[in-house]
Amino acid sequence: MQFDIVTIFPEFFGTAGLSGAETAGGHGILGHGILERAVRQGLATVSTHDLRNFTHDRHRTVDDRPFGGGEGMVLKAQPIFECLDSLQLAPKGERGMRERVVLLSAQGRRFVQSEARRLSGYARVVLICGRYEGVDERVSQQLCDEELSIGDYVLSGGELGAAVIVDAVVRLLPGVLGHADSSRYESFGEGDEPTETLTADGVPRATHGSGGLLDYPHYTRPAEWHGQPVPEVLSGGDHVVIRRWRRRAALAKTLANRPDLLTTADLSDDDREYLAELGWNQQAG
Ligand code: SAM
Repeated sequence: MQFDIVTIFPEFFGTAGLSGAETAGGHGILGHGILERAVRQGLATVSTHDLRNFTHDRHRTVDDRPFGGGEGMVLKAQPIFECLDSLQLAPKGERGMRERVVLLSAQGRRFVQSEARRLSGYARVVLICGRYEGVDERVSQQLCDEELSIGDYVLSGGELGAAVIVDAVVRLLPGVLGHADSSRYESFGEGDEPTETLTADGVPRATHGSGGLLDYPHYTRPAEWHGQPVPEVLSGGDHVVIRRWRRRAALAKTLANRPDLLTTADLSDDDREYLAELGWNQQAG
C-alpha cells in the first residue's frame, strides 16, 4: 500500500522526500517500530511531498489572507493542485479502490477503527495536511474524496492526523503484525464470527477478545509489583479459564471507560448477565 503525504513539514515524518526502504532509515515517526518494519519489508510505502516545492515565488509562499477578512492565513489552492498533478492521480470520481485523496480537517468525519479498516482496502492514499486557519475550500471540493478528523479538538496542523492514520492503517495490512489475529482481537477489533461460534475446545469464540469491546488488561513479570499480584487465574495454565477471565475483564473495562461501545458490541447472553451483575442498565446504555 502506498501513502503520499502532502505537507509543509516533511521532516516531521522522517527524512524528507525519501520513500520505501530509504525512509525507514530516517528519523521521525516513520523510523520506529511497526511502521519502520512495514516500510522496510516493502508492505507499505510512505512518501512525503513538500508543498513549498510547488510554489513559484522567491519566498516559496504557500498561504494567503482569507477572503472576507478575519484572523490568520489560509493554505492556497495552487501549490496543492500542482502537487497532486505531479502524483498523476485519476480525476476525482474515477479513482475506484486504486486511489483515495483525504484532507485532514477538524471539520471532517471522525476517523475511527472502522475507517482505518476501510482505508486499508485502497492501494494508494493521499493525505493532505492543512495548516493555519485551514485550506482553500476548492481543494476539498475539486481534489479530495473525503475529509477526516482524528478527534473533536483543533490541532495546529494535519501532520499529526496523517501520522495517526498511516499508523492505524498500516498495522491492519496483511503481514505487518506478527500474528494475523492480533488486530482482530484488540480494542475496537471486529470478531467476524457470531458470538456463540464455538472454538475447538468448546469455548465461545467471543471469549477470545474484542467483538467491539476494549481489550482486556495485560500483565507481565514480575508476578507481584508494589504489593499487587497478577490475577491468579493468569498463572494457572488453564487456557479456557484464562479466556473466560479475559472476556469478563474486557467487559468490565468497557463498562467502566466506554459504556457507549456496549450498545453495538457483539455480546452473548453470558456477557449480558455478567454486565448486569456489574450494574449495566442495557436500556440506559
Ligand atoms: N479553522 C479550522 C477549524 O476551526 O476547523 C482549524 C484549522 S487547524 C488550526 C489547521 C489544520 O490542522 C487543519 O487545516 C487540519 O488540516 C488540521 N487539523 C486540526 N484539527 C484537526 C483534527 N481534529 N483532525 C485532523 N486534522 C486537524
